Amino acid sequence: MISRIVHLAALHCRCRQDKLNMRLSIKRTVQKNKKLIICLSLIVLAVDTAFLAMSFISLQETLFATLLQKAERHEEEFKLNLKMVYSSMLQMSSLISSNSNVRQALLQERSAAVPLRPQNENGKEGQGGTLRKTYQFGSVEDRPQLLSDNMQSYTWLHGVSPVWAVDPASKEKVYVGALDISTSFRQIVPLYSKLFRVEAAVLLHKDYVRSRMWNPQTKSYFEQHPEANHYVEAVSSPESMNLLRQILPKIFVRSDYKLDRIEMVHQDNIYYSVYYFPLPDAQEDTLLTAPAGFMLIWENVSEQVGHAAFNFFVNIMQAAAAFVLIEIGLLWMLNRETRLSAAEQCAAVDELTGLFNRRYFDELLDNELHRAVKSPNTPLSLIVCDVDYFKRYNDTYGHKSGDDCLRKIADSLRLQARRSSDCVARYGGEEFVIVLPRTDLHAAADIAEAARKAVQDLAIPHASSEVMPVVTITLGVACTSFLPDYESLFEAADRNLYLAKNNGRNRVEPVKVAIPPRRLPVL
Ligand code: GH3
Ligand code: MG
Ligand code: MG
Repeated sequence: MISRIVHLAALHCRCRQDKLNMRLSIKRTVQKNKKLIICLSLIVLAVDTAFLAMSFISLQETLFATLLQKAERHEEEFKLNLKMVYSSMLQMSSLISSNSNVRQALLQERSAAVPLRPQNENGKEGQGGTLRKTYQFGSVEDRPQLLSDNMQSYTWLHGVSPVWAVDPASKEKVYVGALDISTSFRQIVPLYSKLFRVEAAVLLHKDYVRSRMWNPQTKSYFEQHPEANHYVEAVSSPESMNLLRQILPKIFVRSDYKLDRIEMVHQDNIYYSVYYFPLPDAQEDTLLTAPAGFMLIWENVSEQVGHAAFNFFVNIMQAAAAFVLIEIGLLWMLNRETRLSAAEQCAAVDELTGLFNRRYFDELLDNELHRAVKSPNTPLSLIVCDVDYFKRYNDTYGHKSGDDCLRKIADSLRLQARRSSDCVARYGGEEFVIVLPRTDLHAAADIAEAARKAVQDLAIPHASSEVMPVVTITLGVACTSFLPDYESLFEAADRNLYLAKNNGRNRVEPVKVAIPPRRLPVL
């Protein structure tokens, strides 16, 4: 298709028909093809980029969706674990409270002393029972495991059972107190972390700590850090604490602790997926009160990220390979079209004179006649020239001089075709033709006469000519605004040429076209 475009472009490019023009035409074709290739390349590049952007988004979405799914599973598991802890605490407290020694001990404590009411944070008496004692199991370390004395601490970690004993005085079963068995996140979080191979931390909200916890050590934390909103109640390991300090400033934690997507943190060349969920402050599945705080979980996902990055790299390579292949194809096409175009241009040009050749002339005239048929009132003129006594010239000066002479005549004729639509061609041997679209007979005759004079003025010596001692040409002219075929116009011009030859050469004669008027409207 491109070659057809090039061909049509060549047909319409009827300016000065020399070799320079041919080169320019080829150059223009190459430039046109180059522009086409740049456009196609940009389209391919845009498609490639869109493909890469889509693959990047899709890979990222897939990775995040997988990680979010995992996070939701972890949340469910953790909450289930909390329920199991609660159930264990409850069972333990109920088992221990049913022990007769415990009952007796509590009964004795109850009757032995003045009722003891522990003070709450305001220094007032608490609302709890008459006697409370804290029994600690496991490691104590530096922080108390009992978070609150009046069951206001994190309820999931407490199992409370009432204790009844038979009063020796009244012989009646009396309520002697409640047995509260509890554990802390400090025990649970490291185990959870080990079990699910994630890093985890429990962060309690400032308001929760203020309203629900009496431990002065915990409370003083906020006095020392007034800017802090959360207290790190538990963390999976001491090393995790350091990591937590680096990760926390990099993430955005919503005040309602509802996570809509995983956050990815890059720390020390490791990718961590970070997520959190609220810790409900009640023994219900739904949040009846404000969350106590949140559970933060983060895990090393460098492997998954690496996998996604590798897939993306493969996509980039595929896109690059596709681009390179398409580019090679396009360049091959450009080369081919350029070669074809050059060949086509060369095929239209006469080697000796640089004028268009007969092949091109035939095609052009045919084309012009088609156009004339479409617009019948547009005149089309044709001049046929022949060098006078050229055989003798060759015989006198040699074939090489004959060639030089033909070149000079060609240059001279070329100057007569002033319009870009005019075309001068070498018809064959020492015969030339000039096609003059939109030129009437009168104007064509003028051009023919100018051409004749120009060749004569070249003053190329021709001793053996019978006309003049210089090289001359004889011209036949024909003009029409409508012709059924190419031969008719050419024949008319050719006939006039021979008429002129017979009338003495070195002339333009006759100017009237000898085409039967019945068939054709002759100008
Ligand atoms: P007339 O005035 O009747 O046209 O006589 P003429 O000799 O010009 O015509 P003729 O057809 O007898 O001779 C044409 C000559 O043109 C014959 C040939 O040697 C010469 N010729 C044709 N092509 C070339 C060419 O490419 N180079 C050279 N040097 N001569 C050519
Ligand atoms: Mg001839
Ligand atoms: Mg001749």
